[in-house]
Amino acid sequence: MDIIDLRSDTITRPTPAMRKAMAEAEVGDDVFKEDPTVNRLEEMAAQRVGKPAALLVGSGTMGNLVSQLSHCGRGDETILGDQSHVFFYEQGGASALGGIHPRTLANELDGTIALEKIEAAIRPDDVHFPISRLVILENTHNRCSGTPLKPTYTTAVGRLVKRHGLKLHIDGARIFNAAVALGVDVAELAAPADSLTFCLSKGLAAPVGSVVCGDEAFISRARRIRKSVGGGMRQAGIIAAAGIVALTEMVNRLAEDHVNAKALASGLAEIQGLLIDPDAVVTNIVYFRVAKNRMDAPTLVRQLGDLGVRVLPTAKDQMRAVLNYHVTLADVQRALAVFSRVMK
Ligand SMILES: *Cc1c(COP(=O)(O)O)cnc(C)c1O
Repeated sequence: MDIIDLRSDTITRPTPAMRKAMAEAEVGDDVFKEDPTVNRLEEMAAQRVGKPAALLVGSGTMGNLVSQLSHCGRGDETILGDQSHVFFYEQGGASALGGIHPRTLANELDGTIALEKIEAAIRPDDVHFPISRLVILENTHNRCSGTPLKPTYTTAVGRLVKRHGLKLHIDGARIFNAAVALGVDVAELAAPADSLTFCLSKGLAAPVGSVVCGDEAFISRARRIRKSVGGGMRQAGIIAAAGIVALTEMVNRLAEDHVNAKALASGLAEIQGLLIDPDAVVTNIVYFRVAKNRMDAPTLVRQLGDLGVRVLPTAKDQMRAVLNYHVTLADVQRALAVFSRVMK
């Protein structure tokens, strides 16, 4: 049975071009900054997102962690969305390892946080309060339907943050999905931010790696912190080689995942007992619910799995499907047929 795996875009395996580049990569010791392939990826990434410098890290979680630790000291406060990946899925690492205090604000359905809420959350100078240091946005917003944040919004947050002397970090795990979906340059999305993390290992299909981008001083602090959390890798050019292929060959094709996601969402909307707003789907992430009187999400997920379609349960009545490099439009049609059968 051919499995259609829609659980995540992290399941993507390296392409033949990546495996070839990895096999042939010129390498050195990256802790000594002597890996030419890592250096090339970092230069390429920095230039692509319009920042002076970049740093390869092992994962998106590590990228967000070293970014927070580079911006904040112990007791400093970050302002971030209550649905954000950093708050939800990163084990509170910034608190555990850096003593950083998170202040969550409600995410709107489109992944934004209302400007006035951000402004109201910034602490005045008072001996009772922690020091507000960093605002974190997420683009695209994973738990908010994979919605891309528009440059106008991010620019407004950037201005607000600067006016109050804070910094802005973007968790851009899927920022290339945002750029492709909005038809804008990724550098425009990154411009208002002091730092940005993006993932090579999701829709871009590299096996490992994320990149942190920012100015030289920030990246040199991040490099020290990366070492302290065990992220100083040696011949990391093996990984970086795949990252270079990801950046050069895999960005534009993300548009296919978006088309396929839309097709999946429209198809699911026609199936009795499934609840979804197809208009909310503009990148590669599709959240949908099962009507409460039908069955629960884990049961549906199990039945789909038995027929070769894998999705992720995300709540008692909610599931997620993520379109990716290994899923074609024909697979989407096949998956929809399986959904119809299970829901009959
Ligand atoms: C996946 C993801 C991360 C973390 O990336 P890992 O490489 O899995 O650690 C961070 N932010 C968002 C929005 C993500 O979707």
